[in-house]
Amino acid sequence: MTPAERERTSTARIATVQIKTGQIDWAALTDRVLACCADIAACTEVPGQITRTFLCAPMRDVHARLGSWAAELNLETQVDAGGNWRAVRRSADAAAPTLIIASHLDSVPNAGAYDGVLGVVLGLALLEAQGAVPLPYHVELVGFSEEEGVRFSVPFIGSRALIGTADVLLDLADTQGQTVAQAITAYGLDPAELDAARFVGEVLGYFEIHIEQGPVLEAEGRAAAPVSAIAGQARLNLSLTGKANHAGTTPMGLRRDALTGASELVLAAEELARQTPGLVATIGSMHVLPGASNVIPGEVQFTLDVRHAEDAVRMEALSKLLKRAEQIATERSLTFASELRMEERATPMDPGLGALLAAALEAEGRPAAPLVSGAGHDAMLVGQFWPAVMLFVRSPGGLSHHPDETVLPGDVEVALKVGTRFLRLLADQGR
Ligand SMILES: [Zn+2]
Repeated sequence: MTPAERERTSTARIATVQIKTGQIDWAALTDRVLACCADIAACTEVPGQITRTFLCAPMRDVHARLGSWAAELNLETQVDAGGNWRAVRRSADAAAPTLIIASHLDSVPNAGAYDGVLGVVLGLALLEAQGAVPLPYHVELVGFSEEEGVRFSVPFIGSRALIGTADVLLDLADTQGQTVAQAITAYGLDPAELDAARFVGEVLGYFEIHIEQGPVLEAEGRAAAPVSAIAGQARLNLSLTGKANHAGTTPMGLRRDALTGASELVLAAEELARQTPGLVATIGSMHVLPGASNVIPGEVQFTLDVRHAEDAVRMEALSKLLKRAEQIATERSLTFASELRMEERATPMDPGLGALLAAALEAEGRPAAPLVSGAGHDAMLVGQFWPAVMLFVRSPGGLSHHPDETVLPGDVEVALKVGTRFLRLLADQGR
């Protein structure tokens, strides 16, 4: 069967599903989600801000807040040795596979109230919406301990623990000299138990709801969208070296100005990214030496960040830009050097789960065209192990990692309805 045929077949099956959601008070459940997010926003290391790093003391209050809702739903809860808050809703069939619903509970310094938290709280609301309706799969809700990489400069500690690759991080130290292992111990957990945090069992899928943190849904007037892939990225340190000299006495034709060369590359990167659908390229940092108003720049150290949903497109673009840099250097008698600092492959989301999520959106009368995530998410790690899908919720003003980050209540309600349909479509799929 070709992918197109497979899609038609699954869409036909989806169309036959009868979903009865009339008895749920969506507005009340939405209010409950927003109130819970507000309560969690009050759990902070820095009074007056929202700041929660890996296993900081206020994380206990977050776990308690989630735990009280989970208790109402009769979920089994625990905090694993990676600091992840976990709640399980068991299916009647013990041998059933598990749907993991997750996002993260930590934040950047002076953050907003919804990045990560919204996805975990919506997970509870989705289970509340299910009520006593049986599902042919277990659901495990995970509030990841760490995604932002603030405390140890390495992100995804929580999702790495879930997939069983966090042990290599135990000796990393924060700026106070405390290691990941010591932070786990200080919280009352046992780093020796980290292996038990790894999810063992059959995973039906991984579902993460997250705010978009960008301006696309708002520009398109859409409440929510499925994510088709998390973009791969490369980050490089670059330098162009010429010759510093007197700004008054050196004629223009006799200069080897590193900054004018770098400027050409900045514009070349912008032009290439504008001409290549889906490509983003950014020179976000530039250090000009010696950095005086009356001296021709002798050296420029700068960065390049290139991202695309397809690794081949990203790599081709990067190779073009590096060639262009060499050309500029030759034309201007400069020396060019580059160093690859970080490279992450793109993570495609699972097409089958994506089709179900799209069907859920369409059933709510919403357009379902997918977005590519330019930012990294836990789904990027988890998606390398298990079929994963994300639902993005509109970010008003495209704003995130900022105290003014917000969501529209109507969009949260859409996410709830779409998520509820998604869970039921997934249940029906197995029959
Ligand atoms: Zn996030």
